[in-house]
Amino acid sequence: MVMTHETRRVLVTGGAGFIGSHLVRRLLDAGRDVVVIDDLSTGRAANLAGLPAERVRMLEGSVSRRLADLDPATVDRVYHLAAAVGVRLVVDRPIETIETNVLETSAVLRFAGEAGAPLFLASTSEIYGKSERVPFSEEDDVVYGPTTLHRWSYACSKAIDEYLALAWHRERGLPVVVGRFFNTVGPGQVGRWGMVLPRFVAAALAGRPIEVHGDGRQTRCFCDVRDVVRVVTQLLEDPACRGRVFNIGHDEPVTIGELAERVRRRLGSDSAVRNVPYEQAFGPGFEDLRARVPDLRRIRAATGWRPEVDLDHTIDAIAEHQRTSAAEPVS
Ligand code: NAD
Repeated sequence: MVMTHETRRVLVTGGAGFIGSHLVRRLLDAGRDVVVIDDLSTGRAANLAGLPAERVRMLEGSVSRRLADLDPATVDRVYHLAAAVGVRLVVDRPIETIETNVLETSAVLRFAGEAGAPLFLASTSEIYGKSERVPFSEEDDVVYGPTTLHRWSYACSKAIDEYLALAWHRERGLPVVVGRFFNTVGPGQVGRWGMVLPRFVAAALAGRPIEVHGDGRQTRCFCDVRDVVRVVTQLLEDPACRGRVFNIGHDEPVTIGELAERVRRRLGSDSAVRNVPYEQAFGPGFEDLRARVPDLRRIRAATGWRPEVDLDHTIDAIAEHQRTSAAEPVS
């Protein structure tokens, strides 16, 4: 059979995860059929429930193992989102973090090379490490702590992924786009691995104390996942964006203490807000960043994109999802 745009599929690794499942829906809406590889380690099959089976093929298992079951000639785009994600997971299981992030990315780049398929690599604002710059722009230096602190293994493993992807572009001409996600939030995200907003919403809905790590004066910028997947597909389709790195996020900082209050107010909850020292939450020696704000000039110039969904609407959507879905506990 001759493979055309109609018969080839888009591969989404990590497609049963939080961002991946929103991306799968966006691709379906754009008329593309999808193949998902996901080992369901942090993702859930329920995230893809109700989608037409003939348009979404699910290969359950690790990326490197299931790629062997896929003919590269049947794939014309790759979005690589599978990764060991979340601060708590990284601290608890550093071997899994490093191996998943480096080895699976290497396998998927080889596959995209064989397929000749443009590839989007999901990277992270953690890349910037403990640099104190505000905002972070894509060409800034990265600053990591010592190798004895596992916290930095996530950033470092993702940095290797970026080097590898950009090397595939330079040496082999593979069209790759690297997107550094800053805090991405929205319905379907679980708090189990330390994700702050779903944790706060779950606590507020249950009337439990909302636990803020540290003094709560650290700031983050939260971008709704629906804004994120909109620009991810745009970036990969634009030949001018290939071989480049882009920050993807919101650039309005909110302190984590304010975020807790905002969730409480928005959901009419009488939960108390309680500060928990970092050492108690993550163990001794944990280092966190005071601020993490993306410089969005590059992505704006390339795509004209701006986040549109307001944080209050995101809080409402997360609360609605938690109330109505049979989701596993998010605390
Ligand atoms: P997620 O945990 O919901 O998604 C990751 C998915 O990958 C899960 O479905 C998981 O089961 C799957 N997976 C993990 N290891 C795998 C393996 N070896 N083989 C197959 N599947 C595997 O997290 P997410 O928030 O949707 O993150 C998606 C991507 O975005 C990740 O690459 C992450 O590093 C990046 N990112 C996310 C954020 C954020 O705020 N959510 C911020 C920065 C970067």
